[in-house]
Amino acid sequence: MEDKISLLNKHLKEKGLKSTRQRDLIVSEFFKRHQHLTVEELLERVRKIDQGIGYATVYRTLRLLTECGLAFKREFGGSARFEHSTDHHHDHLICLDCGKIVEFENDRIEKLQAEVCQKNRFKLINHKMELYGYCEKCHGKHHE
Ligand SMILES: [Zn+2]
Ligand SMILES: [Zn+2]
Repeated sequence: MEDKISLLNKHLKEKGLKSTRQRDLIVSEFFKRHQHLTVEELLERVRKIDQGIGYATVYRTLRLLTECGLAFKREFGGSARFEHSTDHHHDHLICLDCGKIVEFENDRIEKLQAEVCQKNRFKLINHKMELYGYCEKCHGKHHE
C-alpha cells in the first residue's frame, strides 16, 4: 500500500495535482479488497464515509490510478469496471444474471493463444478472455 501511495503521489505531482483528503479516501477504499468495481459502486462505498464526494471525483481518481498503472479498466458486457493491477495475468468468467465475476488462470489456454498467433505470424501484445454465462447459483433459473 505504501508503494502504491508513493507511486500515485509521484504521478499527481507530475500532473501538478495535490493529494486531497477525498482522493486519499477513494484510493484507500479502492485498495481494500481485490474486486471489479464500477464507478457507481465505489462511489456508494466512499459516500458511506464522506457524503460530500461526487461522481466526478471518483471517476477522476480511478482514471489517475489507471494512468499510473495501479488500476486496470475492464469492459464487461459494456460496463466499465476497475480492478487492481496484478502481477499475474488473469481472465474472467462473468455471470449474466447476478454479475458475479470469477478470475481464472489457465496455462493451456494461454499456450494455445500463443500457438494461434504463431501460426498466423501474429505478434501478440495483449489479450482479454471474457466468458459470459451463468454462475452455479443462477444456473438453475436459466435451465431449459
Ligand atoms: Zn450468477
Ligand atoms: Zn480481475
